[in-house]
Amino acid sequence: MNQNVDIFALENVVSNADCRKVIAGLRWKNGFTCPSCGHTKGYVLKARDAIECAKCRRQTSSTAKTAFHGMRSLVSLFHAMDDFCSGQIISALAFARRERIHYSTAWEQRHKIRTLIERESCTVECIDVPCTLLNMALVKASSESQFDINSHNRKDAHEIVSITLMPTAASPMEYIPADLLHSVLAFLLSIYHGVSRKYCQKYLAEFNWLVKQKHIEFGQLLSIGIRGDPIILRHIEDYRSPFMVRLARTESIKIPRIYAATRA
Ligand SMILES: [Zn+2]
Repeated sequence: MNQNVDIFALENVVSNADCRKVIAGLRWKNGFTCPSCGHTKGYVLKARDAIECAKCRRQTSSTAKTAFHGMRSLVSLFHAMDDFCSGQIISALAFARRERIHYSTAWEQRHKIRTLIERESCTVECIDVPCTLLNMALVKASSESQFDINSHNRKDAHEIVSITLMPTAASPMEYIPADLLHSVLAFLLSIYHGVSRKYCQKYLAEFNWLVKQKHIEFGQLLSIGIRGDPIILRHIEDYRSPFMVRLARTESIKIPRIYAATRA
């Protein structure tokens, strides 16, 4: 296979076919290998965005059996992954508008990326905290779809947090760096206007990634997805955050930068 698209020049990737070329180029760096019989010769079926094995005739798409299996709108998926890598944080609604895709597609894609980075960053040094500590940022159902941070006048997250974050002597917050709790609450409130209890660990995976992702580039994240198992929508819908959620240890995250990024 010939890889003509530079994966680090996303402006060159404008169609799903371009994305498939990039994925195929990364997946079959040394040429196509049939996942069924191992044969190394295949024919590109342009009409179906697939490759047919010259020996067993099995047709394989470049995303088959990867984390991107069955995903449509690969262009917006690439953009979402690029956002995650560059620290650009945006709500699903704002993302859907920017990419001109349906909100549910944006929501699904972004949760799939969170699942991907959650798998990858499981070795990051974390502390376990009871999710009840995040209560002020937890809402009954995700309010991502109801609020557009670019068009609503709201209190600055710093203001909200500074009012409420006053641990008492007996509070378990004593054992958690106050800066960390402050940062994570500001993240959940300013970007997402609160998140559901059910998915809070997914959003925290994004937070943890932001804290630790400094050396991960788009191409690396894409490679992780290509190596990974398919992420099924039903698995996301069935997901439920544990009572003890995982937070990456950090002293370095700067909320103003994150908050400013959403306003850009
Ligand atoms: Zn084959």
